[in-house]
Amino acid sequence: MTSPLPPGSTIGILGGGQLGRMLSMAAARLGLKTHIFEPGANPPAGDVAARVTTAPYDDTEALTEFAASVDVITFEFENIPTGALDILESIRPVRPQRNALAVSQDRIAEKEFLTSLGLKVAPFAQVDTLDDLQAALDTIGTPAILKTRRFGYDGKGQVRITDPAQAAEAFEALQGAPAVLEGFVDFQREISVIAARGVDGAVVCYDPGENIHKDGILDTTTVPATLAAGQHMEAVLLAGNILNSLNYTGVMGVELFVTPAGLLVNEVAPRVHNSGHWTQNGCVIDQFEQHIRAVAGWPLGDAARHSDVVMTNLIGDDVLQYAGITDAGLHLYGKADIKAGRKMGHINRVKPLSS
Ligand code: AMP
Repeated sequence: MTSPLPPGSTIGILGGGQLGRMLSMAAARLGLKTHIFEPGANPPAGDVAARVTTAPYDDTEALTEFAASVDVITFEFENIPTGALDILESIRPVRPQRNALAVSQDRIAEKEFLTSLGLKVAPFAQVDTLDDLQAALDTIGTPAILKTRRFGYDGKGQVRITDPAQAAEAFEALQGAPAVLEGFVDFQREISVIAARGVDGAVVCYDPGENIHKDGILDTTTVPATLAAGQHMEAVLLAGNILNSLNYTGVMGVELFVTPAGLLVNEVAPRVHNSGHWTQNGCVIDQFEQHIRAVAGWPLGDAARHSDVVMTNLIGDDVLQYAGITDAGLHLYGKADIKAGRKMGHINRVKPLSS
């Protein structure tokens, strides 16, 4: 068994966005330091981390120095170049391990992995050419969604197809990127489970949250989610199954579609997740502390919820309301420029459970 990193140790984090920032704050609370590796200047996490390295992911020297300066390495995003992982892994443990990245970076590998566990996913077909797309539309039908296999986030790299006649136009829109066609799931609701697994194999799950998206970006997460009897347990067991199968260490977000035919897995994110931000004000130990505990080899904390929560993202100009928010947990990311569609912060409105 790996021994827990003592307070004073340093966790390296790849990526300096809001997730890296909130991970750094949670680490600091446990007496741990963070060192951020981020190509962009002035990352949000830089304000609260002990150290920042500004360098691209192909800078071998910077990666080597970064790895040597930390005790363990984690990340806040999944598209980490393979070459960078090769270097980092040869110097310090990377948690979660790269098998989880391999699965989540490629939508086809992800769906094949999930179906190998007996889990349900939307009907899908690999699309590399326009002929593939036409054949896939013949079998899957419309409506359907064409998605890039890699690098998609917040609804980017996706085109909805309502009529097979739109095939060529949709294929063009993805500019020849390897893609996957997914049948459109007529879901009743979208939920996600935030689950964590420790180095000792212990698994804890937070209560499922119900997610509403606006313009492809998460708008609100409401906890508890409205679920039929048995679905809560099914969602939690399914998430535990995914983490155990990957021999995973850390927090993972598992996004699910609730349909009359049961739960379908949309995608998994091997990191802390926007739909888990409610835990900051709804639980004693939130997803960020949980992730830090896991990667530092500490025992996981209690994931019990003490309050109902509605988390609302502050996107773009929404953030300008900040001074008027006096009755909710306010979390701002310290981003200097407000841009349309940019995640600037979030609020958690809580309603304590009666004891
Ligand atoms: P993704 O990036 O795959 O998580 O997709 C972003 C959002 O698009 C999801 O949260 C859903 O709201 C919607 N979506 C994605 N795939 C499907 C699908 N196969 N059927 C219905 N809605 C989908």
